[in-house]
Amino acid sequence: MNGMSTATEKLRLSEISPRIIQSEIRSMTVECDRLGGVNLAQGVCDTEIPSPVVQHAIQAIRDGHNIYTRLDGIAHLRSAIARKLAQYNKIHADPESEILVTSGATGALYATCLALLDPGDEVILFEPFYGYHVNTLLSLRVQPQPVPLAMHTWQIDFDALRSAITPRTRAIIVNSPSNPCGKVFTRHELEQIASLAEEHDLFILTDEIYEYFLFDGTEHISPASLPGMAERTITISGISKTFSITGWRIGYLAAHKRWLGPIGYFHDLTYVCAPSPFQYGAAAGLTELPDSFYQGLSAEYQAKRDMLCSALSDAGLTPSVPRGAYYVLADVSRVPGATAREKARNLLAATGVAAVAGTAFFSAGRGENLLRFCFAKKEDDLRRACHLLQHFQP
Ligand code: PLP
Repeated sequence: MNGMSTATEKLRLSEISPRIIQSEIRSMTVECDRLGGVNLAQGVCDTEIPSPVVQHAIQAIRDGHNIYTRLDGIAHLRSAIARKLAQYNKIHADPESEILVTSGATGALYATCLALLDPGDEVILFEPFYGYHVNTLLSLRVQPQPVPLAMHTWQIDFDALRSAITPRTRAIIVNSPSNPCGKVFTRHELEQIASLAEEHDLFILTDEIYEYFLFDGTEHISPASLPGMAERTITISGISKTFSITGWRIGYLAAHKRWLGPIGYFHDLTYVCAPSPFQYGAAAGLTELPDSFYQGLSAEYQAKRDMLCSALSDAGLTPSVPRGAYYVLADVSRVPGATAREKARNLLAATGVAAVAGTAFFSAGRGENLLRFCFAKKEDDLRRACHLLQHFQP
């Protein structure tokens, strides 16, 4: 900009800004677009939207539902979420006081952290982690404490988990099925996490956005459904992924009424409300789609997972086969490059397929031999990416 001089002591970024850099996922997307490649970097989920969801959103715009809604969302959607939570998640939440419709699961976590955490608090999360979880905490001056999962089996080291808890620890973040490793937490694991949370009086913040993307007969267990856990658990989910509407920004959370009010105020402060007409589309999807829709999702994505994993194996990029969500972490030791970022760029240049550097999901020094590939793609695009990968020559 003309006339702008160099930064002075007051004309500067906040202390935290340099630590919250542009996500590696977005920069790979930009690079992939520049080269006209197939983007398996971002979980954009460009598959078809179920028709009741589209139709009711369009109708809502025509019917004039274009103004702010109540800060916790329209009643019809909150009731639909309450029914779904009771049936699928075995969580009993009052739609009038314990459910908040949010600006995506992202907005749900942000408002939750604003309402519940203080600067200097510590929050435990499992590594590999989802970058937004870490950066949400950092942006609020809360210290993330990653507990590494065992590479490839993604088992929890409970001794490490226990020793990560300090007097400043306030919460444990659980993300099941997990982005990026596709771990689906078992009931037994969640019970052990729950008992640690009770022993140390911690919140559980659980991000269940991939709850319907389950493979090989795995079952989704919501931590809030475990005995005694309802009050200390904030259950975050949404429909960005389930209905392929990541750009609509509709998510929700369920929490005990003691927390829901304050979380709602912070959500109001940052987002005001979730987009009004899209709330109508979401409610229609949750109300009208049969169970077979959700079973179909798992079957469709399991087939896509298998297609991608077999292409990666053919290319000598050994995949860690996920049990849920829609990402694969693959070993890319064969790809030239000193770092995972270089490997991602070299693979894109060699094959036209974009993936994300594994380091985006690990603490410094880890994940350098991994890339994450997303298979939430239209069948033809995924097939093309698999074909390109199969012909990879280092
Ligand atoms: N949580 C996880 C674990 C994700 O991977 C993503 C998207 O990639 C989100 C949340 C974002 O969800 P939303 O679109 O509802 O904000």
